[in-house]
Amino acid sequence: MKNYYSILGVTPDSTEAEIKSAYRLLARKYHPDVNPEGAQKFKDISEAYETLSDPKKRLQYDTINGFFKSKKQEEKQYTSSQKAKEEYSKNTETEKPKKKKSKFTDNLNEIFKDLGKNNAKKAAPKIGEDITESVSINIKEAVQGTKRIVNVVHVTTCPHCKGRKFINGAECPACNGSGEKIEHRKITVKIPSGITNGAKLRIPNEGSRGENGGKNGDLYIKVEIEKNSRIEVVENNLVYNLPITPFEAVLGGTVKVPMFDGNISLKIPPKTSSGQKFRLAGQGLKQKGKSGDLIVVVNIEIPSSLSDDEIKLYEKLKKISSKDIRENLSNE
Ligand SMILES: [Zn+2]
Repeated sequence: MKNYYSILGVTPDSTEAEIKSAYRLLARKYHPDVNPEGAQKFKDISEAYETLSDPKKRLQYDTINGFFKSKKQEEKQYTSSQKAKEEYSKNTETEKPKKKKSKFTDNLNEIFKDLGKNNAKKAAPKIGEDITESVSINIKEAVQGTKRIVNVVHVTTCPHCKGRKFINGAECPACNGSGEKIEHRKITVKIPSGITNGAKLRIPNEGSRGENGGKNGDLYIKVEIEKNSRIEVVENNLVYNLPITPFEAVLGGTVKVPMFDGNISLKIPPKTSSGQKFRLAGQGLKQKGKSGDLIVVVNIEIPSSLSDDEIKLYEKLKKISSKDIRENLSNE
């Protein structure tokens, strides 16, 4: 892109008259008849003037290349046109300002009409893509509910150059000419109690950016429940591996099952073996209206330290034992 303003040594705030006089001065200086080495320069000056002297071409050039009038200038113009309007309503004979204004408006309308047509042809609204992020929680958090802060990256239009990439002919310093702004946002995601492994939470509008006025995609949070040596989540049931002693297994009794919100009592019948399962209805993951079960799998474990007395009793037990537990096992 050629910067026509700098070629003519004027600014986007310069008036038509200022541009004209700047052109005249330079044209005289670089005209090939006067300055044989000025041919290229003269060509550039003429090209710049051709565009900047025509209000319609100038507006189009400014719009495409991101040239703006400074705020002060805009205000000044607004005030003067406002003043003209007021004068006009006072004195209907003053028609000049009205004509000038309507011509300018016509030019604008035409340009934006064209732009609108191009947009409609090129790009239909496109919905942004959905994004999925995984978070891990432990079983206690799954049972009781928890929160997680998720970092989200959003790409939006650069507010400095309004996505035009250039400001007054130079690369926009805020976005380095990309026309985009990258935003890092932290979103607090509430994970409800009773959530199951692999469940997805939908956070609307936090996915990828939609294009051409299309909606943003959604963000999905996939919840992964970490494994625990004692408890496992299977769908909405909790499977609990509970150690019991040899005498509890033989004699039966009531044992405590420590849970996140207190102990649950479990009655074990006499002669219970390892691997036996006990289902406690409704004590699993609790979601709205639906509750899973707590499935307790017992496992006979031998305490790591046994007293001499205990060992003696086991020896006695061995001697008096009447039944061979492996008698029905065959070699086949
Ligand atoms: Zn920018």
